[in-house]
Parts: sequence; structure tokens; C-alpha cells
Amino acid sequence: MSVPVRRFDAVIVGGGGAGLRAALQLSEAGLNTAVLSKVFPTRSHTVAAQGGISASLGNVQEDRWEWHMYDTVKGSDWLGDQDAIEFMCRKAPEAVIELEHFGMPFDRLENGKIYQRPFGGHTQNNGKTPVQRACAAADRTGHAMLHTLYQRNVRANTQFFVEWMALDLIRDSEGDVVGVTALEMETGEIFILHAKAVLFATGGAGRIYAASTNAFINTGDGLGMCVRAGIPLEDMEFWQFHPTGVAGAGVLITEGVRGEGGILLNSNGERFMERYAPNLKDLAPRDFVSRSMELEVLEGRGCGPNKDYVLLKLDHLGPDIIKQRLPGIREIAMKFAGVDPIKDPIPVIPTCHYMMGGIPTNYRGEVVVPKGDEPESRVNGFYAAGECACASVHGANRLGTNSLLDLVVFGKSAGDHMIQFIKNEMPTWKELPVDAADRSLARVARLDGQTGGEEVPEVRAAMQRTVQSRAGVFRNSANLQQGVEEIKQVAERVKRTQIKDKSKVFNTARVEALELDNLIEVAVATLISAEARKESRGAHAHDDYQHRDDDNWMKHTLYYGETRQLTYKPVHTKPLSVDYIPPKERTF
Ligand SMILES: Cc1cc2nc3c(=O)[nH]c(=O)nc-3n(C[C@H](O)[C@H](O)[C@H](O)COP(=O)(O)OP(=O)(O)OC[C@H]3O[C@@H](n4cnc5c(N)ncnc54)[C@H](O)[C@@H]3O)c2cc1C
Repeated sequence: MSVPVRRFDAVIVGGGGAGLRAALQLSEAGLNTAVLSKVFPTRSHTVAAQGGISASLGNVQEDRWEWHMYDTVKGSDWLGDQDAIEFMCRKAPEAVIELEHFGMPFDRLENGKIYQRPFGGHTQNNGKTPVQRACAAADRTGHAMLHTLYQRNVRANTQFFVEWMALDLIRDSEGDVVGVTALEMETGEIFILHAKAVLFATGGAGRIYAASTNAFINTGDGLGMCVRAGIPLEDMEFWQFHPTGVAGAGVLITEGVRGEGGILLNSNGERFMERYAPNLKDLAPRDFVSRSMELEVLEGRGCGPNKDYVLLKLDHLGPDIIKQRLPGIREIAMKFAGVDPIKDPIPVIPTCHYMMGGIPTNYRGEVVVPKGDEPESRVNGFYAAGECACASVHGANRLGTNSLLDLVVFGKSAGDHMIQFIKNEMPTWKELPVDAADRSLARVARLDGQTGGEEVPEVRAAMQRTVQSRAGVFRNSANLQQGVEEIKQVAERVKRTQIKDKSKVFNTARVEALELDNLIEVAVATLISAEARKESRGAHAHDDYQHRDDDNWMKHTLYYGETRQLTYKPVHTKPLSVDYIPPKERTF
């Protein structure tokens, strides 16, 4: 079967913040650039980001990028790569000012400068005092950022392929990446997009959990495509639970609420974070606050009829601040929790929010894999940025507002390095392998031919139940081992999924079945990686190994899907220009 081929200098899979920032760089350099997205670009999950984007602008109090770097290293529980962290924190002020000049409508201080609010784990002078580092556009920062970037791309003539789903990565016999296959949802046709360089910016995969703040489209497609193409996934055991998802609904209430002065209360009306984090209190990093909340519930101090959530109180901020700085939160609380936060507290519970792991990359956005003795050898023509990538700046735990920053800093850096690669090393296209589309065609043919198989929603729910119950906020050996067995069984069921509707035009059942192929790879990687890590670090809190073990475990996990085996690689301990920040105990 001959599959139509379209050619571009660069193909970018993903129209969220990372994909759009990279695309802008490429298009403005005059390269022919395609962006594929499953949804209209401005509906990507970046649009849902609420609280802010970090940068040490120092608009409210003194701040320095070195302090931002220290907080990020400490937040990462020393699993983050310090060269990448330095790169990101140094570039942050420039990246935010650039967004401002692109026209992003930030909130303003009286003096006209960008408004900044406090956020979890961001401190002054490597210390105990919160600093106002999160640049915000009310509680809709991602919305403002994504629309700004989209408009710049329209001006730069980026070509958008909207409602196109990339299915598989194409590698040639040398292992170089030469394009992707993709499904045009409107027609059901499969295409080959042939490129000199490909960037994955496919976002998160929070939908492997039953309770998640993530959009339904966050199905880890980039990671699934990597696994099928023999590229390992890094640090998949580390999933961030956001402390304040609306209980029962999962919808996010930004940490910006606590940044503005909101506090968490247990059933005794006690501000319990004062006990766990005497200095930063409610603004300790997310892994810390989530564990404290779970402990309150486990120890019987939860609220509500089932004592299974805590309360987020913000009425003391007064109606003006709530209406001006947190209008979206008020709306969410009224719609999803049935309370008006001007009068009543919001019921909240830790909810899966963010994937710290992902496709292994360096701070140039290049995808790097072990080859011979080299732990990080570049995969020619392949780049990744944003939540799907693991640079690794977030290590074992991400600080709030560092993701939006990651998108623009590494999106731009990846774009710059793709330009260099295309101009210096790839004057023309490498040849496509003859079997370029075979894997994708076989996957779709299997679905079209399958009868008497498993229903996609049922298998997906079984996966979500397993991940939720076996790889939650607190983990233990017995539970994780059980989880590995269960998820392998679910993976067998995924091979037999069937769709009853075999039509081609806008067949969303087919898209969901193809997404499940990706989700399951992420879920299996998560459980196998988590089961193996015998320590507690950042978001991986292990009841049987309650301490961080730097001697044995200060290393990144790499998971290979074909064999389901793990290898490890060292953490980067050499920053670019400053001194190494050595490990310490994490207290707040
Ligand atoms: C509710 C919420 C609030 C948040 N608030 C903040 C915050 O205030 N500050 C902060 O720093 N971080 C925040 N985060 C985290 C941050 O928003 C995300 O990590 C970030 O936006 C991810 O951006 P991205 O560009 O990597 O991917 P996304 O914005 O998720 O975009 C992914 C893109 O990939 C496309 N795609 C995926 N698979 C395919 C495929 N197979 N084919 C074609 N296209 C595909 C999608 O269509 C989409 O365009 C928040 C996250 C959530 C869920």
C-alpha cells in the first residue's frame, strides 16, 4: 500500500507551549516547519496552566537566578541535572521578558512591572523566606501564554496540521529519525511526514491515573512512539501529585491560591502544614505538602462525611483579591465543588498532575540514549521539549511554575539546535526506509480486523485503577510488585482491543484505541521503574525505604519497552558555570 508523503524541513508533534516556542524559532529562521496537533493548538493542556511562570525578575523583592537554581536543585531532591537547571534558571528572565514583548498580557504592579506571586519551594537566598518569583496573568497564565505564542506562529507562517495524530516515529537503518507517520482524523487517511529533524512536544500522560488534573488528550503519545521505536524512557517512577485537586472531580486549584495567602486546614480546623514545614508552611514543595495531606487523612483528621479530604481556606483574602487574582479558581470551585470560596473553603485532595520523567534529552533539546560506553549519545534528527521530555530539570519533584518556564526555554533551545543541525548537517533529506509506515499500518489494520476483543474504555479503566492504587503518593514493595503483575496483564488486554465502529471519518473510537497503545507503555514503564527504586526521593515515597540513598540511587532510570529492562545513568553534577550544589537533607 502506498502512503502519501509530505516533506518539511522540520516536523513538530505538539502545539502546546513547547511545540509552539520551538516552531516559532524554526519558522522565523525561514525553515519550512509543520506543527501537528490532535486538537486546535490553543486547546493544548498548556491553556489550563493557572498559577504562573517563574523567573528571578526581582520585581517585588530582591531575587537572583542562582537562588532560583538552588531552589530547583533542592526541589528536585538532587536528581535534577545541574547543567540543565542552570541553563533554565539563567535564561528565565530573558524568556519571560521575551513573552512580554510578544504581547503576553501579564498582570501588573503599580509601577507597571510584571506582577509576581509566591509559589511553593521558591525562596530568597537559598533559605526559609518565600520569594515572589511567579509571573502571572491572573489565574490564567497558560491561556495568555499559549494564545500569544500561537499568534506569533501565524505571523511567522508556521504550517499547522490540526486534528492530526502522529502514530509512529520513523527511524532509518542507522537509527536516525527521518519523520513520523500520522493519521488525519477528518479523513482517516495515513500520511508520512518526511523531515530533516523531528521534535516531540506531546505533553504529559496524567491519564494513566484514575484521578488527574490533566486533559483527556494527555495520553503520552510521544512516549509510546519512543518505546515502539526502541528509545528508552527516563525516570518514569516520578509523578507529581498536586496537593489541591478538587476532591472527587480532580480539577486543579492552583498553588497560586496558597501563594496569595490561602491555607490548608484539617477536620480540627488546624493549619497542619505548620507542623510539617515550620518555615514555608503551606508553600513547601508539592511532594511535601501532598504527603502531609495524605497523612492527615490516614490519621483520621480528614474532612467531610468520609473524612477523605482537607480544606483550602481563602475567604480571609477578601472578595476583591479573589475576584481580581483568582477569578478562574472561584468559577471552578463553584462549578466542581459547589462552594463559593469568598465564603466557604474548598475540599481538596492530592491528584496526579505532572510527569517528571520522559524522553531523555539534554539542555540543547537533543534526544540522547546510551551507546557503547557513552551514556548520552545523540539520536540524529530527534529532539524533544516540554513535559514529554526529561532534560532533567525537575528531577524527582518539580517546583510549581517551572514547567511553563521549561516549555519556553527548552522549546527555544531545541529550535536553535534544530536550525544548526538542519543547516550544518542535513542539507537534504535522508532517504525514507521502505517499511517507513509498516508499523502504523499494521496497528490500524489490527484494529480494523479485530472482532470479539476487549472494549477500550474497560481496559483503560483497569489500567487507571492499577496505576492509581499501586503507584500513588505512598508506595511499598508488596504493592508495587503486585502492580507490576497487574499492569502486565492489562498490557496483554490492550493487544486485543476492538472498536465496533470501523468507519474512517472522524472516528474518535479509533483515536482512543490508538491512544491506549501509548498510555499502556507509560503505565508499564511507571510501575517497573517505581518497583525497582529502593529509596525515597522527591515524589517517590517508599514506605519500606524511607530515606534518600545517594550512594546507591542518585542516578537516572532508563526503561526499555521491548525488553522491559532497566538501566541507569549518572546525574549531571557539573553545572555550566557555577559550583555544584551538593546534596543536603530537604527540610522546609
Ligand atoms: C491544570 C494544570 C495547571 C497547570 N498550571 C501550571 C502553572 O501554573 N505553571 C506551570 O509552570 N505549569 C503548570 N502546569 C504544567 C504545565 O502546564 C504543563 O506541563 C505544560 O503546559 C505542558 O506543555 P507541553 O507544551 O509540553 O504540552 P501540552 O500543552 O500538553 O501540549 C501537547 C500537544 O501535543 C499534541 N499531541 C499529543 N500527542 C499527539 C499526537 N500523537 N499527534 C499530534 N499531536 C499530539 C497535543 O495536541 C498538544 O498540542 C499545569 C498543568 C495542568 C494540567
